[in-house]
Amino acid sequence: MKRIAILGSTGSIGTQTLDIVRNNAEALKVEALAAGGNVALMEEQIREFRPRVAVMWSEEAARELRIRVADCQVQVLQGMEGLLEIAVMPEVQVLVTAIVGMIGIRPTIAAIQAGKDIALANKETLVCAGHIIMPLAKEHGVSILPVDSEHSAIFQSLNGEPAGKISRILLTASGGPFRGRTKEQLTGIQPEDALKHPNWTMGRKITIDSSTLVNKGLEVMEAKWLFDVEPSQIQVVVHPQSIIHSMVEYIDGAVIAQLGVPDMKLPIQYALFYPDRREMHNNRVDFFSLGSVTFEEPDTETFPGLKLAYQALEQGGSLPTVYNAANERAVALFLERRIGYLHIPELIQRCMEHHTVIENPNVEQILTTEQSVYDYIKGLD
Ligand code: NDP
Repeated sequence: MKRIAILGSTGSIGTQTLDIVRNNAEALKVEALAAGGNVALMEEQIREFRPRVAVMWSEEAARELRIRVADCQVQVLQGMEGLLEIAVMPEVQVLVTAIVGMIGIRPTIAAIQAGKDIALANKETLVCAGHIIMPLAKEHGVSILPVDSEHSAIFQSLNGEPAGKISRILLTASGGPFRGRTKEQLTGIQPEDALKHPNWTMGRKITIDSSTLVNKGLEVMEAKWLFDVEPSQIQVVVHPQSIIHSMVEYIDGAVIAQLGVPDMKLPIQYALFYPDRREMHNNRVDFFSLGSVTFEEPDTETFPGLKLAYQALEQGGSLPTVYNAANERAVALFLERRIGYLHIPELIQRCMEHHTVIENPNVEQILTTEQSVYDYIKGLD
């Protein structure tokens, strides 16, 4: 029986992780759940999965949850303290980080220090603190198991291959709903247009990020840390059918890929049971109806978010944090209809240009950098 805790259990990845638990009840046990504000869903999850501990971000949500689940044997905690507490619970073996944003950094560090394996969906953690997380994981002998479908594909394509033989990582991208459009055609884009992803159903923020290619930029950074490669070894390949989830090219020219229908449950399950593979009653690739798969170069002129990600990664230090924080705020402003779609990459660029890079930032400096980006954007109002 594998014992897990989930940060972000009410979200897209969180609920799909619980689907996996439901389908593997004899092999997985949920010890703790954490969410932001969705008290109603958390109550349902507590009643079904019976965790020992549940965390809500706000005091108010925690108070309401305590009342709702007064008849259940669950301890309800609140805020960062609560997240840190479940990260180190002795019963937990794997922490699933399915929370959005840099809030995931501190609990992930605490869990690694406590010897827990991490099933990592929260890419912001590696984007901003990969230089802290990866050496720490090595020091404590814990595994960082990627949940992101592309990184899971790379991880699966590396399985059994000798270390240090990678020539390139070929990170696939669907290209999002606006692939093939010009910049002029993107000027009037509204949130509801950008929230329609052609192949994947995901949380709101990551869906917008997929449409701007910023998500791919964040994934490039994530790949650098997970697989210890240089930015120049990561090539983004637009593949609109989203059947090849990513590939690894080796030094002899061989390319190994992982394919499957676009469904996050497979990478989540793979991370939870690694190195085992378990039966899954999911859809299968039908190659005959698929017919063909196609590839394109990414259009970084129309979607500069990807180019900016490479710049942030090359310069390193605190710049990836600026990239991420500026994007987070820009996406929120776009969803509130306070800025236009094309202002998202513009705002990221402006924040990156304004920032004085800190080399090798510690967690405190990462969080201060995040705040300074928010303050800078606020000052632009
Ligand atoms: P969602 O927005 O669907 O879910 C986010 C989850 O985090 C919710 O459970 C939310 O709780 C919780 N949360 C937000 N803020 C806090 C907080 N302060 N304290 C505790 N919990 C909080 O996001 P996704 O599931 O789409 O994405 C999660 C992460 O996984 C992101 O980093 C994303 O980039 C990554 N990812 C997602 C993929 C996907 O297919 N969705 C694919 C690959 C990676 P509540 O709703 O209750 O407020």
